[in-house]
Amino acid sequence: MSRAYNFSAGPASLPLEVLEKAQKELIDYKGSGMSVMEMSHRSKEYMEIIENAEKNLRTLMNIPANYKVLFLQGGASTQFAMVPLNLFTKNKKADYINTGAWSKKAIAEAKRYGTVNVVASSDDDTFNYIPELTAGMFSADADYVHITSNNTIYGTCYPELPETGGVPLVADMSSDILSKEYDVSKFGLIYAGAQKNIGPAGVTIVIIREDLVGKALDITPTMLNYQTHVDGGSMFNTPPCFAIYMAGLVFEYLLENGGVPAMEKKNREKAALLYDFLDQSSMFKATVASRSRSIMNVPFVTGNDELDAKFIKEAGAKNLKTLKGHRSVGGMRASIYNAMPREGVEALVNFMKEFEADNG
Ligand SMILES: *Cc1c(COP(=O)(O)O)cnc(C)c1O
Repeated sequence: MSRAYNFSAGPASLPLEVLEKAQKELIDYKGSGMSVMEMSHRSKEYMEIIENAEKNLRTLMNIPANYKVLFLQGGASTQFAMVPLNLFTKNKKADYINTGAWSKKAIAEAKRYGTVNVVASSDDDTFNYIPELTAGMFSADADYVHITSNNTIYGTCYPELPETGGVPLVADMSSDILSKEYDVSKFGLIYAGAQKNIGPAGVTIVIIREDLVGKALDITPTMLNYQTHVDGGSMFNTPPCFAIYMAGLVFEYLLENGGVPAMEKKNREKAALLYDFLDQSSMFKATVASRSRSIMNVPFVTGNDELDAKFIKEAGAKNLKTLKGHRSVGGMRASIYNAMPREGVEALVNFMKEFEADNG
């Protein structure tokens, strides 16, 4: 068997232990005689899977009792509409920070239902930094403030959370949920597509403070109303059963391996290995200023397209896969989510040193 070091931004690596467990249970789940893919979502076995997944996520993130946890479909992209449809409750106004492609999509969707005030943007410099935010920038009468906590494409993340003066903070946490400690009580709503740092594509996690549920705009489709899914326990209709099962296995794996604090420590060490190398290299450069650097997605360039292409090709031959950068940034991007072992980052840095010596 040969497993690559896969630096894909998403869908992304999963822990080998989790894949092996799923493989073992694939055709006969715990003596039920069937696969999780084949069983009723209302069966005793499946109810236990989804209840444990929620319980373990609550433990991992320390989710307070007055927050609901939902397992939905439609990806983070559906949340771009669900958030305004459900949270435009008073003035149909929201503050958004524009930190890249995903923020822009969230803004475009919210504009369909109300007034969007873009309080700050890093558009002027290819989104390679997080704008400085002060309490005075936010509107007191906004229904919520929206941030993208980690910008998967540009490799930025917030050095600290903005102070919104009591206005509910909403975060697209698709690419850094469970990578470091977040105080859930500081948020009104958190959402995340699973395929970056949780599990396979197909399930989206929503964590929402209870008082924000049940006030959706009249035009809100039933399936896009959080109340529907709170009432149905994420089972108003058939949930993405297998994806939830896989996410549940990842949650168990994280709990068995020290939880989020242990992941954060490991992730910071992995990211430091890479950034320290980039900061002293005369060939490779990180594209993001140190204050705004993500510990999950690390874009870098040589400044020479041909050299970038050669690097990506030769890295691939060394089992270092999916290092091509997003087309809007160019160069390379190493996504080093929870499931990327330290050895993978070490192998990448060693290859970069070799490449620099051979081509410098
Ligand atoms: C990948 C990503 C999305 C889009 O997620 P889908 O599940 O494909 O809709 C949105 N936001 C961020 C920050 C992402 O990384």
